[in-house]
Amino acid sequence: MTNISLQERKVKVIARGQGNVYPVYVDRADNAELWDVDGNRYIDFGTGIAVCNTGHSHPKVVAAVKEQLDKFSHSCVMVNPYESAVELAEKLTELAPGDSDKKAIFVTTGAEAVENCVKIARAHTGRRGVIAFNGGFHGRTNLTMALTGKISPYKHLFGPFPGDIYHAPFPTELHHVSVKASLKALENLFKVDIAPTDVAAIIVEPVQGEGGFYAAPAELLQALRALCDTHGIVLIADEIQTGFGRTGKMFSFEHAEVEPDLITMAKGIAGGFPIAAVVGKSDIMDAPLPGGLGGTYGGSPVGCVAALAVLEVIEEQGLVKRADQIGQIFNEQLSLLQSRYPKVIAEVRNQGAMIAIELVCDGDNEQPNTKLTQAIIAKAAEHGLILLACGFYGNVIRFLPALTIADELIYEGLDKFTQLFAEL
Ligand code: PLP
Repeated sequence: MTNISLQERKVKVIARGQGNVYPVYVDRADNAELWDVDGNRYIDFGTGIAVCNTGHSHPKVVAAVKEQLDKFSHSCVMVNPYESAVELAEKLTELAPGDSDKKAIFVTTGAEAVENCVKIARAHTGRRGVIAFNGGFHGRTNLTMALTGKISPYKHLFGPFPGDIYHAPFPTELHHVSVKASLKALENLFKVDIAPTDVAAIIVEPVQGEGGFYAAPAELLQALRALCDTHGIVLIADEIQTGFGRTGKMFSFEHAEVEPDLITMAKGIAGGFPIAAVVGKSDIMDAPLPGGLGGTYGGSPVGCVAALAVLEVIEEQGLVKRADQIGQIFNEQLSLLQSRYPKVIAEVRNQGAMIAIELVCDGDNEQPNTKLTQAIIAKAAEHGLILLACGFYGNVIRFLPALTIADELIYEGLDKFTQLFAEL
């Protein structure tokens, strides 16, 4: 069994829609490193896609899961609940930003968490409209595709989409879209497309993830809070990629000191076990009728104990603070690289350990250089480094190391990254 033989088997039986970036088949992984089936070692700057904040197979998480499996592998929160679900809801409602009384529900994936936010917001307000942002990403189900701002590949060939979804521009300094322009566009939207009294929710990622790691300015999040308060609109924070310490706060909305009404949580919540949650203000969360939310596997006992272990590790190892240190090292080193290659790297940016470089446009046609991004990522794999692309035009390279990574591994990984630039 080799990477090549597995890739040959894979393309015959797994549809291309679930395509992989490069054929590195994982044999085992430990904290911030992984090994493929050919025995090659990699430093993992992708952690799945921002999932293993506490590293691969953290011993505490593994022990909690094993212990749970010995007790019972499945029950359903909606049928015979269990203590770990209650305890996890207690912890998450306590950790979510703001002082309001909160409640939680559990689901399985990020997209499901977003869908449930929209259901809850509509049930609470009795309104239909939902506003999202250009460049945003919220998932691959029908409703979350509609909320997602990028067409290809997420929406291409998949319509029709549900109606009553509207998009506003997301402010990014690099692309000269100001907060003022973004708010003005929202104002216009309220005048032309949908009255604010018909809007159930505004959903926003505090740092756009798949969209390119652009942090929403605090000013935007504060203005959205005020707008939602004025018009009785539910403010949804999509913290699926930003949550659980990744940005140097437990949740990124804390940077702006804004309390959203509903928050989506997934990815980093449980070290890789499929569980997701919506946490929000109790009066809003309780709008749907009993049985209207959740699902067979939502908040599985294995996911709940894994999440409880992850929360313990984040606290014990001081990972929220560590995210800032990691971000600083990356930013310093990548900024040095940018000064050596100003014609390749347009910008280095980070919020905590959510770090990215944006590549400059191709000089001849002024188009973002997607091919170069892919070449760098493929070369990185040859150098033993796992990296991911993102961005509206696919010209952003993101770095999402485990928050448990040692400094030596960060420097080793960044050395590899620097070396490959010399070979471009
Ligand atoms: N929302 C955001 C901000 C995400 O980054 C993602 C996944 O990348 C999702 C939603 C969808 O989550 P999932 O892939 O678990 O459905």
